[in-house]
Amino acid sequence: MAGIDDLPPLRDVIAAHGLSARKSLGQNFLLDLNLTAKIARQAGDLTQSDVLEIGPGPGGLTRGLLASGARKVVAVEKDSRCIPALQQIAEAYPQRLTVLEGDALELDTAAHLQPPYRIAANLPYNVGTELLVRWLTPKDWPPPWSSLTLMFQKEVAQRIVATPGSKAYGRLAILSQWRTDARIVMDLPPGAFTPPPKVSSAVVHITALPAPRYPADPAVLSRVVAAAFNQRRKMLRASLRGLAPDIEDRLIAAGIKPTDRAEQIDLERFCALARSFA
Ligand code: SAM
Repeated sequence: MAGIDDLPPLRDVIAAHGLSARKSLGQNFLLDLNLTAKIARQAGDLTQSDVLEIGPGPGGLTRGLLASGARKVVAVEKDSRCIPALQQIAEAYPQRLTVLEGDALELDTAAHLQPPYRIAANLPYNVGTELLVRWLTPKDWPPPWSSLTLMFQKEVAQRIVATPGSKAYGRLAILSQWRTDARIVMDLPPGAFTPPPKVSSAVVHITALPAPRYPADPAVLSRVVAAAFNQRRKMLRASLRGLAPDIEDRLIAAGIKPTDRAEQIDLERFCALARSFA
């Protein structure tokens, strides 16, 4: 069977460029191109979109994205050892791959991408949650991206899609579900990666909603939710006391029992509570 492209197998790329995995950079590579093509397909029809990829490494997912027809991929990689391997992919897909060397937490990629673009990544675990929170909290909504297709540790993926009443339910679930649809679309065992990480992983596909599900000021909602879940075992009348002296009245007006705990409260009632501070 023909491969997804005419480039060498990823094991050869890694050997040729001396890409021994570095733990400090969260390097767990995907070497099976059938698998990276499958992940790329989860991102939807890419033919009309630019795609931002964080941490391409030796380029397995990059090749999957390009082979599935992405109009253009902008790949941000911190490890300079990977850049020549990525340049080889750029040559095989003329005009369609831009490689940027640098830290995704610092680099400004906006100038390279036409919105609404998609984001796809097998994220470095050490920066994954921070990047997600940034993407979910832009200055304006809708954001410049239309979808995020991201690999996380399974435990983080479960926190993104968690519903009230579960242990995983918290700030990340509310932040995600307030303005997006988020689903786990693939589970991957440690053995899918080289070297294998200690825990299982999952791919989450997140699509931006045109507007929030319920009205609320983002900064106020964020403050209320942070205070509620910082002391998640306490009753809300205690954990939120610092927000307002009449917090019990506000909770009742939002349909919340003051003796409830944060993990029992759904998104709609958190938004109602946030609006009481508007
Ligand atoms: N996408 C590749 C794959 O699936 O095989 C590599 C994934 S590996 C989990 C994470 C990648 O992110 C590594 O290549 C690592 O060098 C890169 N990386 C780590 N921290 C980064 C940062 N702050 N900015 C950009 N890339 C980073």
